[in-house]
Amino acid sequence: MRGLMQDWPLLCSKVIDHAANEHPLREVVSRSVEGPMHRTNYREVRQRALKIAQLLEREGYGLGDRIATMAWNTWRHLECWYGIMGVGAIYHTLNPRLFPEQLAWIMNDAEDKLLFVDLTFLPLIEALAPKVASLKKVIVLTDAEHMPETKLPGAVAYEEWLKGADGDFVWKEFDENTAAGMCYTSGTTGNPKGVVYSHRSNVLHSMIAQAPDAMNISSSSRMLPIVPLFHANGWGIALTTPMTGATLVMPGPKMDGASVYQLLTEERVTCTAAVPTVWLMLLQHLEAHGGELPDLERVIIGGSACPRRVIDAFQNRYGAQVVHAWGMTEMSPLGTLCAIKPEYADLTGDELLAVEETQGFPPFGVEMKVTDDENRTLPRDGKTFGRLKVRGPAVAKAYYKDQGAELFDDERWFDTGDVAHIDPHGYMKITDRAKDVIKSGGEWISSIEIENIAVGHPDVAEAAVIGLSHPKWDERPLLVCVRREGRDPTKEDVLGYLDGKIAKWWMPDDVVFVDEIPHTAAGKIRKTALRDEFRGYVLPTA
Ligand code: ADP
Repeated sequence: MRGLMQDWPLLCSKVIDHAANEHPLREVVSRSVEGPMHRTNYREVRQRALKIAQLLEREGYGLGDRIATMAWNTWRHLECWYGIMGVGAIYHTLNPRLFPEQLAWIMNDAEDKLLFVDLTFLPLIEALAPKVASLKKVIVLTDAEHMPETKLPGAVAYEEWLKGADGDFVWKEFDENTAAGMCYTSGTTGNPKGVVYSHRSNVLHSMIAQAPDAMNISSSSRMLPIVPLFHANGWGIALTTPMTGATLVMPGPKMDGASVYQLLTEERVTCTAAVPTVWLMLLQHLEAHGGELPDLERVIIGGSACPRRVIDAFQNRYGAQVVHAWGMTEMSPLGTLCAIKPEYADLTGDELLAVEETQGFPPFGVEMKVTDDENRTLPRDGKTFGRLKVRGPAVAKAYYKDQGAELFDDERWFDTGDVAHIDPHGYMKITDRAKDVIKSGGEWISSIEIENIAVGHPDVAEAAVIGLSHPKWDERPLLVCVRREGRDPTKEDVLGYLDGKIAKWWMPDDVVFVDEIPHTAAGKIRKTALRDEFRGYVLPTA
């Protein structure tokens, strides 16, 4: 017997309809690319998204067309997502921090036909456009007054373009498994791989993300996503926030400590999300200039491992709960979040911080396991680590054009490429990316663990650990540090600080200081570049 409930396809247009119907005047506040703050609400966002969909259809774009965006987090970018999805086309977010050759490769691979671009990136796009044969038109996200001269194909100012529509349009309906969005993984090795989200996965992911043990967002939240929409599906926030009716505050192009602090306080933000580097900048700003965060309740931190000192500072100095999260572009992106279960509710001090340093446990909708190289599931004992595998309704089952097929097995488990262990209460901790793990005498050393402890040293701004070849042990760790401005720590200082905090045999064989550690377009440490830099470096123990 079939159930007798309604067939109500999980389409993303329903999310903005819900926000506009039930929370019409809830504000969407942005720092505009032109400079001033801009205020709108969900009713207006929906109305303008309808105009976008109407114009797209009139100009011949529709089901399955890839429409790129290269834009900061603003109300305009949000409208574009809903307009594009509402006509059945696919938003394809481009990360402007990638190398131009990579961007051209990605745009050609996706065959983007149309591009919405912020003023900031016009010079980049002017150089790229001739290399992307599929690109027919470029819409510049500004008004006539700020529109610069450009020879880009069909270039038009967004606000002028929108004047051509009245918004009298009905969202297109189609199967909920239809593609809604696309995002490429940065591809630290090999070419980037395209991840294709469906309407269904986006809607389910948003329902999963808003839960109390996940992002914990409700209509009374005031959410500031600093993580850009072009990182890993914008952590789903462009859908989750309207779905709950929360106020949305967006940083536009400014993500430095002072600008973030201004938004947090002036817009009375209660919940915010970004990678650890953003929070290190904010904390440095607060240390240098003073300030409090009276409204901030929750800081969601993910993308790379969050150092203990960041968790400690937010919770014990500024009174905001840190939610350490792990995810991937391939997972829409949420995988696990670190809420505190009753089993750990009595912990305090360092014991509590040790739990909060883990990436937490999955919400409903994500299954995970850790296996050895023969695909045998490893025990949840909090120490045995292996390959982390996941599956769920918002986890990729393949990449675009079937790249990387070896990462998906017959039972739909996706091999994340991360190495982790899970404790008896289900808390997962990433110890490394499989390709960064240091193999010393047949045992594995976690580079992330050492890095996180090293940045706890008051004179160390950033730290990275890589494995260098060693005649006796196969590989041994080298610790690469950036000094804090005006400080001058020595190798002995840093090693002394690590002493007693890590196992003796994990102790780096050497410490070197550099001016800068290379980063990926998503702000993560680029270990491949670092390994290249130190190829041939001889450890004193070798
Ligand atoms: P990219 O592969 O381009 O970096 P993603 O943003 O999808 O793109 O990165 C996902 C990866 O980031 C994960 O596989 C993991 O290695 C790392 N990561 C994400 N969150 C965390 C975290 N909280 N702690 C440690 N690593 C993390």
